[in-house]
Amino acid sequence: MLVVEDERTLAGMIAAYLSRAGYATTIAYTGPDGVQAVRDQAPDVVILDLGLPGLDGIEVCRQIRTFTDCYVIVVTARRDEIDTLIGLSVGADDYVTKPFSVRELVARVQTVLRRPRGAATAGAADRQGQQPVRVFGQLRVDPTAQRVHLAGDEVALTPTQRDLLMTLSKRPTMAFSRRRLIDDIWGNDWVGDEHLVDVHIAHLRRKLGDDPDTGRYVTTVRGIGYRMGQG
Ligand code: CA
Repeated sequence: MLVVEDERTLAGMIAAYLSRAGYATTIAYTGPDGVQAVRDQAPDVVILDLGLPGLDGIEVCRQIRTFTDCYVIVVTARRDEIDTLIGLSVGADDYVTKPFSVRELVARVQTVLRRPRGAATAGAADRQGQQPVRVFGQLRVDPTAQRVHLAGDEVALTPTQRDLLMTLSKRPTMAFSRRRLIDDIWGNDWVGDEHLVDVHIAHLRRKLGDDPDTGRYVTTVRGIGYRMGQG
């Protein structure tokens, strides 16, 4: 567990709660120290403040995403910053707005850690062994290997982006509501804003070369949510 936060009192409080919950936790107080700490310690979860000295949280997230797919929970001072993040492919897994209850943040960490990687397809894979590759135009989704290729090139997805694509592509004719996607991927005890789904879909579309509003591979179903497109 790593906390990257320049407000020392808050960083100390978050670290204390996480330690009390049984997680070995370290703190970095600047952006560059945060990136270095992720490299050195390979934490499972990073709690990342956006406003940091040296390197802002957005850039820290971008840099660590080049070498890790650990869970990143971004802490923002303003609710509308989350909307800004939709336009930036930073690859965070969850967002928390200040002020927040540290206890709630720890609960969020526990939820994220309970999420098995590849949750959407793991059960089916156990029963059936190999699952066929799903093809949508130039997009190939391999649920057995948990890998995604676009026009022959592998697409590097975060765990959340991968779970979304695996879930949607498993039932390609079905329109999924945001709540259904949250239940399937984050778990049905997750109590945050359903807007989070849109943030991750926007990141996923960018990686798939889709238009952010009208995806070819992940399409918007007005009044409902999202469905796979045929590419
Ligand atoms: Ca700050």
